Amino acid sequence: MTDLRPSPTIEDYLGVIYTLDRNGERVISARLAQSLDVSAPTVTATLKRMQRDGWVVVNGQKEIELTPAGRSAAMNVIRRHMLTEWMLARMLKLPLSEVHREAHQIEHSLSPEVAERLQVELEDPRFCPHGNPLPGFEEEAEGWVALSSLSQGEAAIVRRIQENLEEDYAILTFLESKGVVPGAQFQVIEVLPFNETIKLSIEGKDLILGLRLASDIFVSRVA
Ligand SMILES: [Zn+2]
Ligand SMILES: [Zn+2]
Repeated sequence: MTDLRPSPTIEDYLGVIYTLDRNGERVISARLAQSLDVSAPTVTATLKRMQRDGWVVVNGQKEIELTPAGRSAAMNVIRRHMLTEWMLARMLKLPLSEVHREAHQIEHSLSPEVAERLQVELEDPRFCPHGNPLPGFEEEAEGWVALSSLSQGEAAIVRRIQENLEEDYAILTFLESKGVVPGAQFQVIEVLPFNETIKLSIEGKDLILGLRLASDIFVSRVA
């Protein structure tokens, strides 16, 4: 079974499992239900099929782990997704807030040949337009820190808007409209832990973010 390309539903599960795992989250079925916006019984039934077909195993702590075949299929679909995002961003000039959901519709039907062509045409990108690493390039993001961990006065560059935020159109539109996109430099004006906010100066304007949102945005400090 595992030599076949998984169905779009299974590909979505594989992608989410891979992403949660690399972001250091515990991969359990309740978390999958939340990420995929489906019911717990649906996740249970799908995971059964995935175990039967050799994509995942569930360990003693009820954690879901990818098998080598599952891991390879997950990396494959995420790569196709990210290449499609670049295609939409570069060629069609779609905004960051839209490329994720549009790419999500297209990624499953992209042939290996077209994916290969895109990879070459886009000159082997290591990150998606939101700054999330393509599978295999995780190490390149290791030096980045959460925006919420910065102190007053520090300057940094936005690098990564984490995958879970890509799903949220309202947040992405907000961030993009305020200039919080990969490559943008900013300075921390004030951190108010009791208020759970961080105030930045970005694009010549002040911007207040909640610390929780800021914990899913990664940056590199400017010396
Ligand atoms: Zn995406
Ligand atoms: Zn992306």
